[in-house]
Amino acid sequence: MRIFKATHLGMCFGVRNAITLANKVAATSQFSVLGELVHNNIVLDELRNKGVHFANSFQEIRYDTVMITAHGCSQKTIASLQARGYQVLQSTCPLVRYVHKTVRQFVENGFHPVVIGRRDHSEVRGVVEDLDEYDVVLTAEDIFNLKEREKYGVVSQTTQPINYVLELVNLLKNRFPNSEVCFVDTVCAPTKQRQDSAIELAKQCDVVIVIGGRKSNNTKELVNTCAIYCRRVYHIENVDELMLEYFIGAETVGITAGTSTPDETIDLVEKKIRLFADKLVPEAIIAAA
Ligand code: SF4
Repeated sequence: MRIFKATHLGMCFGVRNAITLANKVAATSQFSVLGELVHNNIVLDELRNKGVHFANSFQEIRYDTVMITAHGCSQKTIASLQARGYQVLQSTCPLVRYVHKTVRQFVENGFHPVVIGRRDHSEVRGVVEDLDEYDVVLTAEDIFNLKEREKYGVVSQTTQPINYVLELVNLLKNRFPNSEVCFVDTVCAPTKQRQDSAIELAKQCDVVIVIGGRKSNNTKELVNTCAIYCRRVYHIENVDELMLEYFIGAETVGITAGTSTPDETIDLVEKKIRLFADKLVPEAIIAAA
């Protein structure tokens, strides 16, 4: 069994920076993070063990200092935290800030903002919460249901696959041929690199293992993309979920991982697949005999 790793996989700089900041602050003081710092339970458990507290809502905040996650949040959220007397620390990824800035510029210039993404994702909520009027779309049906506007300003959640985003932008242009549609590509570079590498990998593998948190949007998108090119794609969050049965009959196995998956988890998964490969080889020889 041959094992391949995607050229680009695992943690991006935005997630690494957020974790570094959390570790640095945790070394000297206590604080709450509003939401999941990153969508990965292994990382979150490690931070909990160092005393970092995670609050799902304002009511659950335990300390005077509150950290905003890599996914960012609205100015409204920051203002209301500050009004309650909290010190706010931001680990918002610069590429998420770019989405906020682009949408602000659209509104200032009279464009109706449209965000391509998942409306329930914290990044998207953070982008739209400051807006009076906006639309969030993710399907052709969503585009079809839009009201006609003179000028649309379109951005994307950073972790959407760019090809799908472009399809929706074209659909919007075709749906409203008399409107001006201005699209700014805000899919982040690490997402694009991981998506492209996943396609390359899935095309040449019998089985693909995608490692990442169940709530991680970019991991889900990697699973979806790999499934287009490979029939046996498994999404696991940690090494314990890996099963020997996944690899029976496979000659080529690919490994990729979402942008919040730690390097250690990828290494453990790779080692276990190699152990499985050793176990499966004698079976294959016996079967062939
Ligand atoms: S996935 Fe992209 S936008 Fe999100 S933290 Fe990583 S680099 Fe930043």
